[in-house]
Amino acid sequence: LVRLTDRLRDIEDPADIAYAASEVLGMALSASRVGYGAIDADTDTLHVDRDWTAPGVDSLAGVTHLRDYGSFIDSLKSDESIAIADVRLDDRTGIASDALEARSARSFVNVPIVEQGRLVAVVFVNDAAVRQWAPEDLTFVREVGQRTHTAVERARGRAGLRESEARLRFLDALGKETAKIVDADEILAATTRMVGQHLGISGCAYADIDEDEDGFTVRGDWSAPGSPSTVGHYRLADFGKLAPRTLRVGLPLIVNDSLAELDPEEAATFRNMGIGAVISMPLVKEGRLTALMAVYDKAPHAWSANELGLIREVTERSWAHVERVGAEADLRASAAALSELNATLEQRVYERTSLLMQAEDALRQAQKMEAVGQLTGGIAHDFNNLLAGISGNLEMLELRLTEGRLAGVERYIAAAQSGSRRAAALTQRLLAFSRRQTLDPRATDANRLIAGMEDLIRRSVGPNVEVGVVGADGLWTTKVDPSQLENSLLNFCINARDAMAPNGGRITIETANLSLKDPAARERDLAPGQYVSLCVTDTGAGMTPEVISRAFDPFFTTKPLGAGTGLGLSMVYGFARQSGGQVRIDSEVGKGTTICLYLPRFLGDAESAEATARPSVDAGDGGGEIVLVVEDEPTIRLLVVEVLEDSGYKAIEASDGPGALRVLQSDARIDLLITDVGLPGGINGRQIADAARIDRPGLKVLFITGYAEKAVLGSGQLETGMAVITKPFVMAALGAKVRDLIDS
Ligand code: ADP
Ligand code: MG
Repeated sequence: LVRLTDRLRDIEDPADIAYAASEVLGMALSASRVGYGAIDADTDTLHVDRDWTAPGVDSLAGVTHLRDYGSFIDSLKSDESIAIADVRLDDRTGIASDALEARSARSFVNVPIVEQGRLVAVVFVNDAAVRQWAPEDLTFVREVGQRTHTAVERARGRAGLRESEARLRFLDALGKETAKIVDADEILAATTRMVGQHLGISGCAYADIDEDEDGFTVRGDWSAPGSPSTVGHYRLADFGKLAPRTLRVGLPLIVNDSLAELDPEEAATFRNMGIGAVISMPLVKEGRLTALMAVYDKAPHAWSANELGLIREVTERSWAHVERVGAEADLRASAAALSELNATLEQRVYERTSLLMQAEDALRQAQKMEAVGQLTGGIAHDFNNLLAGISGNLEMLELRLTEGRLAGVERYIAAAQSGSRRAAALTQRLLAFSRRQTLDPRATDANRLIAGMEDLIRRSVGPNVEVGVVGADGLWTTKVDPSQLENSLLNFCINARDAMAPNGGRITIETANLSLKDPAARERDLAPGQYVSLCVTDTGAGMTPEVISRAFDPFFTTKPLGAGTGLGLSMVYGFARQSGGQVRIDSEVGKGTTICLYLPRFLGDAESAEATARPSVDAGDGGGEIVLVVEDEPTIRLLVVEVLEDSGYKAIEASDGPGALRVLQSDARIDLLITDVGLPGGINGRQIADAARIDRPGLKVLFITGYAEKAVLGSGQLETGMAVITKPFVMAALGAKVRDLIDS
């Protein structure tokens, strides 16, 4: 026992301990064979790493099925030591004595090692000859057995600790080595190299599984010097029928000795690859076999639980790492894409904006060219007409002069002069728009100016339109050309009337004091300061934004050809700007329009009323006689009525034949019938006159006619009390004709 203690002191390997103890015991007892082995109580097998034998006696190293040698294992399981002097004579071994004797065990001692009621190991002492075992022999064996078991277990514990320490150190080193790597293939390359070198085997590889889970591709491997690479494509089924089944459920495929464990045809693949032993560790993700990691050796190799655990751990960690770097790479890629997007966003916004600005410039340019074209066209057209009139009359004059027929030539001179005057008026309006007209600004009270015009406005807009004036109390004085201001106001009102035709509506003229600060001033394109505003609001058709934006353009009109010149608002605009003010439109289609004129305040009193008053209209010499005016064209009817009323007559209006006949057939007093010849409604002016004279013989009639209607009146002399005036006519001429007829 002292020697045993000495021998066991420095031994670390469990197998060596078992052998040393066996040797000490065998020498002391002069036995044939002594050993210490673990028992697998489930299979009744004895597992011996290394036993001691006397010369010429074979070893029992390996696995021994104890039932092959009798039933004595039952005694061992109940913690009973066995000492059999002669196996032939003992009930427990009698039937197996030949087998025992063949293994140099004519007699033997077995001492059980039982832990927590379970047989875990046995110490056996065999003798080739019959031997009576002394009780102290038994005690001695038992004592050695206990000490050996203790020493073996302790050593095993230390070895396990060392192994797991080594495993942890390896995993730690592997983690450090691969931590910085961000490429999946590089991670796996480093891992296979380190695992292969750590385990001292011939290779380590990783593979991707095909979509169909039938094949796999070894993407990379590490091979020990002299061992071939395994990179390539394979089919799972070629690695034995177990391989696909095991791997697909996530279990490792473990082969310790491919030639011994597998059928020859299954082993062929391993042999061709030069693989004797392998652990193939699967990665199953969401129920799908996706990858493999394998360690292999050319020689058969009994993989330990430690090695298996290591591979499992390495595989899990590597794939986790690969997935993490994949996710990180995705993240980096999207972050890079985002910052690229951000970096170029500004550039792209800039590019788009400048494109937009270019397009706007082009549009503005096109609009400007269109406006200029319209302006030139308008001027050319109007001037051509005027020039045609002037030169035509001059030609006639020339003709008469050469013929020496001087009577009535004044008429051509007058016509040419009138054309020149109209041309001058046109240029005047153009000059107004271009803000180059000669203005005669005076300190003006706008309220007083409006009051002086109210009558004229009412007459101009007609009875269908109600006119209201709201003059601000204490309205500031403004310094403008009063006649241009009147012109502007009249223009606003005429436009309002046109916008409310034919149903009429309401015009409100309003004045106010206005102190404009920025941004209100800048918004109206005025310098900050004090202004007088004059606004005309109507309840008419309103304007679209497009019309608003062009309303101030010269010659811009939405009215039918001949009805509008498109010069009214352009004149107002030029006048307002030239006077240091502004004009603004606020309008909504279907609701109405407000047009405001802003004029700068003048610090000082307005000039006297007479200075700004309109020259008074000539008082007419009519005596309240009643005139029926039949005219379908309202503007002409309005003018005629105006002239009549100015001259002291009363007017009744009708716009067509039937309307006129109703009046004529009533017993209203009518002193004169003025009628257009061409009228709508199937009855012309001539027929009206004839019908009228049936009830009212001798009724005085004045026909208004355009050139084309002359035929209606016949070529002969008109009856007495009838006269004709040809369009266009001068108002004064009309007034004179009316007076002549009534007074005659
Ligand atoms: P004109 O009256 O000869 O058409 P203006 O320069 O006076 O020319 O007006 C230009 C255009 O502006 C008009 O043709 C009309 O379309 C529009 N407009 C002006 N005033 C009004 C208004 N009060 N209501 C609706 N549209 C208006
Ligand atoms: Mg107008």
